[in-house]
Amino acid sequence: MSQLSNKVAIITGASSGIGHASAILFAREGASVVLGARRQPELDALVEEIREFGGQAVSLAGDVKSESYASALVELAVGRFGGLDIAFNNAGITGAPGSVQEMALTQWHETLDTNLTSAFVGAKYQIPAMLARGGGSLTFTSTFVGHTLGLPGMAAYAASKAGLIGLTQVLAAEYGAQGVRVNALLPGGTDTPMGQAFTNTPESLAFVQNMHALKRLAQPEEIARSALYLASDASSFTTGIALLADGGVS
Ligand code: NDP
Repeated sequence: MSQLSNKVAIITGASSGIGHASAILFAREGASVVLGARRQPELDALVEEIREFGGQAVSLAGDVKSESYASALVELAVGRFGGLDIAFNNAGITGAPGSVQEMALTQWHETLDTNLTSAFVGAKYQIPAMLARGGGSLTFTSTFVGHTLGLPGMAAYAASKAGLIGLTQVLAAEYGAQGVRVNALLPGGTDTPMGQAFTNTPESLAFVQNMHALKRLAQPEEIARSALYLASDASSFTTGIALLADGGVS
């Protein structure tokens, strides 16, 4: 039996990388998916791809920093598919790497707003819709950076993603009694456009590969399988955790 039959899922960051792979996997597992990102043509192509294999998908382009966009994604899920069971809040940016001294305050805010404030805003609208269904599963994409390993030049990114783990723990405690599970997923270096920006020379690729015990990057489909685990009943007694899918970073 499919793992997400009769479930409705919002996935942000679906135009690319981990979100794109997760949208396909969740839809193949029976979920009706509501896809978010800023680039409409990429979302249109993904909706088409999912419908071609018999899946159910709709999309809405927008910026995850916007409260009205967070609310509109939930309205779309409820309006088109009758409710919301799963949210994979995955959209994110690294921001321009640089030391704290070099980093402009505007860059700091852009990264924190995109990666962390978006999660707060998303949860604010997603949780009431899940409560109306008697529960649900919410996952935030964090990272190993700033959790298992400090990487120079990544202060805003690491702070925003570590903040997601705190948000995860608090939301899990606040809504566990009402059946909403909340978890963070911490991928290691993954072969996506974001990951490729840090591995585009033989030296930088070797550096990132060597951070991992498995000595390679993850494929986005591998991270999508961890997201599926957290979204599905396979993890029904799991909440408030930071699940490492980092290939062994120490
Ligand atoms: P990609 O760059 O491939 O995907 C990022 C996604 O986020 C895109 O779909 C992008 O869509 C979306 N996005 C970015 N900013 C916004 C915004 N303001 N509003 C709406 N959507 C936005 O990267 P990954 O798939 O690798 O990244 C997915 C998540 O995984 C991120 O949160 C990232 O931090 C995390 N991660 C990635 C790792 C890696 O090595 N790749 C390692 C650990 C964690 P669009 O541009 O169309 O808006």
